[in-house]
Amino acid sequence: MKKVLVLPGDGIGQEVVNPAVEVMQVAAQQQGVTIDVEEALVGGAAIDDCGSPLPESTLAKAKAADAVLLGGVGGPKWDDLPTAQRPEKGLLGLRQELGLFANLRPALLASSLAGASSLKPELVSDLDILIVRELTGGIYFGEPRGVETRDNERVGFNTLVYAEHEIERIARVSFDLASKRNGLLCSVDKANVLEVSQLWREVVTSLASDYPDVELSHMYVDNAAMQLVRAPKQFDVIVTGNMFGDILSDVAAMLTGSLGMLPSASLSASGAGMYEPVHGTAPDIAGQDKANPLATILSVGMLFRYSLDMPEAADNVDRAVAKVLADGHRTADIAGDAQADAVGCRTMGELVIENL
Ligand code: NAD
Repeated sequence: MKKVLVLPGDGIGQEVVNPAVEVMQVAAQQQGVTIDVEEALVGGAAIDDCGSPLPESTLAKAKAADAVLLGGVGGPKWDDLPTAQRPEKGLLGLRQELGLFANLRPALLASSLAGASSLKPELVSDLDILIVRELTGGIYFGEPRGVETRDNERVGFNTLVYAEHEIERIARVSFDLASKRNGLLCSVDKANVLEVSQLWREVVTSLASDYPDVELSHMYVDNAAMQLVRAPKQFDVIVTGNMFGDILSDVAAMLTGSLGMLPSASLSASGAGMYEPVHGTAPDIAGQDKANPLATILSVGMLFRYSLDMPEAADNVDRAVAKVLADGHRTADIAGDAQADAVGCRTMGELVIENL
């Protein structure tokens, strides 16, 4: 029996999580596995309930689960709260407390949706790349940091720091992923300018001999940004630090043109992980059954693959989503001019289940 904690969160979170949980249960049953699903509050919903964006009880359940499935947190209702009490703190707290150091962001584009990209369809049709971003180190967490007065003017500073063990663990995750995919790993850094990047490159290179089936390359981050929009299909897996990954994964996301289609995973050393759509809580369409649940359903596919060790279930979920799209079904966000034919969130979930 596997344990999954479901955190619907706010806005469209509940709407997209419901069909995703149904898909998860059906795909697991097909493999003869029962999933024990528990639900808890996080973000704005938790603030309303008990005043904290990450209640102790939610954290304890998350730590006891094999995986966490999250909808999204935040919304205008909580925008005026002080930073420490805002819904996003729930998300950051979960990442920190669960030790989620590896953020996996696939950018996948089925040929049937290639028209949604701002790039020419032939550049992105059947795109399948994976960006692995280091999530708990680097300049977002480095000390010292702050703003202080020096020589009568204010100076702001942050510290970009990576220890060898942090580089090694994210690199090993990435080599493993590349060896299970197309065997190409591109490590992105700024080694022509930054000492941290020189160490990063040295450590990543030193591990390559442990993965003879993976071809390792290195690229400076400025070139990587250009190559992602020039010829994105040259990549398989990209591994990079926290800030470079933050930026490049958003570039890669937009290659696909549809926020409602992008899943993500954040993994810890133990294999437990948190899975969530890349999009937010979409307050503008919340409660209207208009949200696209496919990003969350594809996150369930990643959950099967990376935390539950159920690759067949993962493949089945991915295939069912691809079939629904190939059959021409669309939610409003990916329907383009065919808005009149768009289906709602619930119907899209049912279509995926029919195709499982
Ligand atoms: P958003 O991703 O929620 O929405 C951006 C646009 O995309 C909106 O027009 C929305 O309707 C549309 N959209 C997003 N997801 C969709 C889906 N599944 N189906 C159809 N359309 C979809 O980003 P935002 O508007 O900048 O943020 C709204 C709230 O979400 C804010 O409170 C923000 O802090 C929060 N947020 C949370 C997360 C998270 O929990 N991981 C991530 C991003 C934003």
